[in-house]
Amino acid sequence: MKFIYTESHKCHAPQYEFNRDRMTTYSESPARAEIILWALQKSDFTEITTPRQYPLAFIRAVHDSDYIYYLENIYSVWITEGEPEAGVIPHTFALRTMSKRPEKLVNQTGYYCFDAQTPIVQGTYEGALFSAYCALTGADMLLEGESAVYALCRPPGHHAGRGIYGGYCYLNNAAIAAKHLSQEARVSILDIDYHHGNGTQEIFYDSSRVLFVSIHANPNRAYPFFSGFADEHGVGAGRGFNYNFPLEEHVDERQYIKVLEHAMDIIQQFDPGFLVVSFGVDTFRDDPLGDFDLSLESFSHIGKRIAQMRRPTLLVQEGGYNLQALGEGVVNMLWGFCYDFSVSA
Ligand SMILES: [Zn+2]
Repeated sequence: MKFIYTESHKCHAPQYEFNRDRMTTYSESPARAEIILWALQKSDFTEITTPRQYPLAFIRAVHDSDYIYYLENIYSVWITEGEPEAGVIPHTFALRTMSKRPEKLVNQTGYYCFDAQTPIVQGTYEGALFSAYCALTGADMLLEGESAVYALCRPPGHHAGRGIYGGYCYLNNAAIAAKHLSQEARVSILDIDYHHGNGTQEIFYDSSRVLFVSIHANPNRAYPFFSGFADEHGVGAGRGFNYNFPLEEHVDERQYIKVLEHAMDIIQQFDPGFLVVSFGVDTFRDDPLGDFDLSLESFSHIGKRIAQMRRPTLLVQEGGYNLQALGEGVVNMLWGFCYDFSVSA
């Protein structure tokens, strides 16, 4: 299986995030992508493709123009205004009853952001842009006839909505790729990160062209808390094209695969031309951000089951924060997928 990677992710390297009552080391570190890269190369996944670059129209197909402008410009304005160099972190948030956007960029921070753990630093925009390019390149490779491609995206994307960011995500890589593919055929996004892909859901909530199916931790106890419930089915033309499977803590492989079977049945009925998988390794039992009970071997079984769909598939990297397990989790997923898809490593 070919995979897409670029060193450009390294330019997005916040030192800290605000967690509960203090600044802590940033979990979504550049080391994550390097560890995955190393593990892939060690496991004979050697066909690295460098991402192509795309006009901004491909990003604008998913994200609002004012939001993109904000991501690109806020850090330099922030520094000019004498704010902390550690990164843009809002201290006030625009909620339901306070949603007007102030004129000055430096005062808009809480308008576009929904948490305090996703700083914008010097290279954030460039890193996010190249991460989206990785996913777009993978989408184009499917359109050109590849049966399966893995996009080593960093920063991740599935928490980013049309005009909001959070959860270490700025541009929604999977959604940008899915939007591009949807011009050719119907697309299903299967999100198997530990956290609900609230951004992806929002982007396609009114669409019948892209089916979104997500298996994740119940938002009653887990981030992002305000979406991912089972009764969110879509609106307008998109009604019936959004499925959430919130799970309780300590879900083991047997229970997880059972839910995955159900999710795959829904996708099968939709009969998409392409499958995009938002893949997180934070479902692993020792992930610091998760509470599921999947083993590293579980990922190969999950990969195998997804491959049985027999659709051109783009696997997009989302979360996964146990640096000892991350590489093996990704490799197992890809091996499992290749085993059943007859794609050579
Ligand atoms: Zn996650």
